Amino acid sequence: MTKKILVTGGAGYIGSHTCIALHEAGYEVVVYDNLSNSSREAINRVFSIIGQPISFIEGDIRDAETLRQVFAAHAFFGVIHFAGLKAVGESVAKPLLYYNNNVSGSITLLEVMAEYDVKNLVFSSSATVYGDPETLPIDETSPRSCTNPYGQSKLTVEHILEDLAVSDASWNLIPLRYFNPVGAHPSGQIGEDPNDIPNNLMPYISQVAVGKLEKLSIFGNDYPTVDGTGVRDFIHVTDLAQGHVAALNYLQQHASSKNGSDTTGSVGFLPINLGTGKGTSVLDLVAAFTKVSKQPIPYQFAARRAGDIASCYASADKAKELLGWEAKLSITEMCQDTWRWQSQNPNGYDSH
Ligand code: NAD
Ligand code: UDP
Repeated sequence: MTKKILVTGGAGYIGSHTCIALHEAGYEVVVYDNLSNSSREAINRVFSIIGQPISFIEGDIRDAETLRQVFAAHAFFGVIHFAGLKAVGESVAKPLLYYNNNVSGSITLLEVMAEYDVKNLVFSSSATVYGDPETLPIDETSPRSCTNPYGQSKLTVEHILEDLAVSDASWNLIPLRYFNPVGAHPSGQIGEDPNDIPNNLMPYISQVAVGKLEKLSIFGNDYPTVDGTGVRDFIHVTDLAQGHVAALNYLQQHASSKNGSDTTGSVGFLPINLGTGKGTSVLDLVAAFTKVSKQPIPYQFAARRAGDIASCYASADKAKELLGWEAKLSITEMCQDTWRWQSQNPNGYDSH
């Protein structure tokens, strides 16, 4: 039986890549997105990559009535919940918007899931829940703390999921803690399309390379790292997408559900890191991108960015052990695919 999956936020950067991976793995996808940070064009391109349309519903996760209609119309095996706002700076300026969208929205979604007895969930969490880590690599037992409303919203949803799992063993809840997703689909048709000037490093670098931005500012060159710049665990978005398929496969094998799991059992609350386990510095990423794109990437050193940490990289052992998943693609491939997307679509989805 083909398993149906509701993908909230499926029109977004990670969601669109995951829809393709789900389709390729034999899952049937229903996308639910309010397009607040994405466009219909992304969905059209997913159709074109997979060669057929997928169901798309324009709706908000805070709208229980529309969600009910969707759950009434489809027998879902589970939900992958990407929908959320993700800009740290904006979350500091607009905390109520972030708590409302990310926390209240998740509660509404969980309530409707409970009403329809759909209790398998994969949730987009983040390495940001680890705050400034005490030890590296970061494993899933590391203490959690956050310093901004975006991070707090992710951590709060994790706490809600933990409480839910304690209250009722029929919930199967996997928060995937992403490290730094970068890259694009190898077709060059879909990728990350920030609305404004990018906050994140990779889209900033690629916009400098394509000539949209003049110069990269590297925030800090006095960190206790290999070259003084920040170190992160960059992970290719298609590897990340495969991690979601692996998490759903795990739920299928270990969770009970009325809509088609293979066994009876309970997963409870099972947080899993999705990272490569390798740290790359800002300067290393700039060098790799320069080599791949053959474009100059002018940069200057600037003051540290408030709230940034020196180093962050995952222990990816739990994902390998439980899900049989590990990241495969290199920094070079991350840069190649980002460059293909950026150079073919200099204005993102607006260029066509
Ligand atoms: P994105 O903004 O590209 O995708 C999120 C999607 O959710 C967008 O299509 C947006 O329109 C939709 N959305 C937002 N609020 C909604 C609502 N109330 N109802 C319905 N749809 C809504 O972001 P992304 O990079 O693809 O991230 C996906 C998820 O992963 C987010 O929850 C994000 O916080 C989390 N995450 C992202 C990163 C990253 O670096 N990209 C890292 C860690 C975690
Ligand atoms: N960074 C930078 N210049 C930029 C954007 C980011 O030097 O314009 C650095 C940032 O200080 C950090 C790393 O790149 O050390 C990754 O930042 P990003 O915002 O991409 O991810 P996060 O901070 O969430 O890990």
